Amino acid sequence: MKHLWVILLLMLGACKGTNKITETTNATGPVFTPIPSPINPAMLPAEGIAKNVIFLIGDGMGLSQISAGNYWLDNHTALEDFPVVGLHKCHSSSHLVTDSAAGATAFACGVKTFNGAIGVGPDSVAVETILEEAESLGYATGLVATSTIVHATPASFIAHNEYRKNYEAIAADFLQTEVDYFVGGGKKYFDRREDGRDLIIELEGKDYTIYDQLTEFKDCELPSSGNFGYFSADADPLPFDAGRDYLVDASETGWTFLNAQDEKGFFLMIEGSQIDWGGHANVPGYVLTEFAEFDQVIAKALQWALADGETLVVVTADHETGGLAIREDSTMDSLNIEFISTKHTAAMIPVFAYGPGSENFSGIYENTEIYNKLRKAMGFTTE
Ligand SMILES: [Mg+2]
Ligand SMILES: [Zn+2]
Repeated sequence: MKHLWVILLLMLGACKGTNKITETTNATGPVFTPIPSPINPAMLPAEGIAKNVIFLIGDGMGLSQISAGNYWLDNHTALEDFPVVGLHKCHSSSHLVTDSAAGATAFACGVKTFNGAIGVGPDSVAVETILEEAESLGYATGLVATSTIVHATPASFIAHNEYRKNYEAIAADFLQTEVDYFVGGGKKYFDRREDGRDLIIELEGKDYTIYDQLTEFKDCELPSSGNFGYFSADADPLPFDAGRDYLVDASETGWTFLNAQDEKGFFLMIEGSQIDWGGHANVPGYVLTEFAEFDQVIAKALQWALADGETLVVVTADHETGGLAIREDSTMDSLNIEFISTKHTAAMIPVFAYGPGSENFSGIYENTEIYNKLRKAMGFTTE
C-alpha cells in the first residue's frame, strides 16, 4: 500500500477504477508565497575567497525528491537558479548505503566513516570539524535543524561520538565548541540528563541567551552580544504539516545574526531534517511539504548571497531516502509517487553551488570532497 495521490486525485482515481490510496491531508499544498527567481547568478561575478558559507543539507533529498518537489511547486524550485551543479557519491566506509551520521561526518570532517559515527573517523578517533576549525580561526558559526540539535546531521558538525544515539554525550559537546547560534529540538538532552547536569545553565554561563519552544521563535529577542540558542522542542520538532514553522525565519535570522558579529565571516549549516523522515514514512505529502519549506530557505539564502557577494551557498543531501519514484501515470498536477523502501538508498546526490568557490562543485566526486571544497573556498587551505 505505497501509492499515495497528492493532489486532486479522488475523482481521477475513481474514474480510472484504481485502488490508489487517496490521502488528501496535504492536498492544499504549502502556504508559501513563491519567491521570484533572481537574475541569473551565473551572469554575476563571484570571485575570490568566500567570507561566509551557508551550507544547506536536505536530509534524504535525492534527485527524485527534488523532481517531485519541483513538479509539485508548479515546475519551479530555487535549485534551478544555481549556476553550478555536481554529484557526490555518498557511500560510507562501512556500508554502500550510508546513514546520516556518516554522511554528515563526510561533509564536516572530510573522512569516510562508519554508519552511526558522529565526527569520528573509521578508527573512532575524533576529527576536527569544519565548524570547529572556523570557530577556532575567528569565524562566527551556526547550526539550524528541524530535528533535534543533537541529531546525526547537526551533531556531526560539533560533536564526536562513535554512536549517533548517545544524545546526552553529544549535547555535552555543545559546551566544548562555542557555536554562536543554534536552533533545533532536543531540549531534554540538555536539562533532564542522567548525569544531573543542566547544560542550559552551563550555556548561559558561557554567554548564551537561550529560549525554548514556550516562546515562539519570532518573539525571541536576539542578544546584542554573546551567543544565541533556541530549543524548538523537548524532543523531535513537529513536521511542517503539523504546525512547525520556524525554519525559514530561523535561517534568515541566523545569517543576519552571524553576519553582524565582528568576526572574519561565518559558517552556517542549515538542515531540512524531515525530508528524510517523510521518505522513511513513505508519505509523499510529508516529503513534499518539507521540501517546499526547505526550498524557501534555499531561495532566501541565494537572494541574500547575491546581495552580499562574498557568500558561498552550497545545497546538497546526505543520501536519498525511500527510493522515491514518480510513476508513469503522473501528471504535473497529480503526482503518483511510490517508494521501494523505508530506508536510504545509494544513489548519487546532486550538489548546487553559488558564490566564491562555487565553480569547484561541478563534476562527480566523493562526499568527502565537499569538505575539501568548502575549506578551499573559505581559504582554509590552498590545496
Ligand atoms: Mg538529518
Ligand atoms: Zn534517514
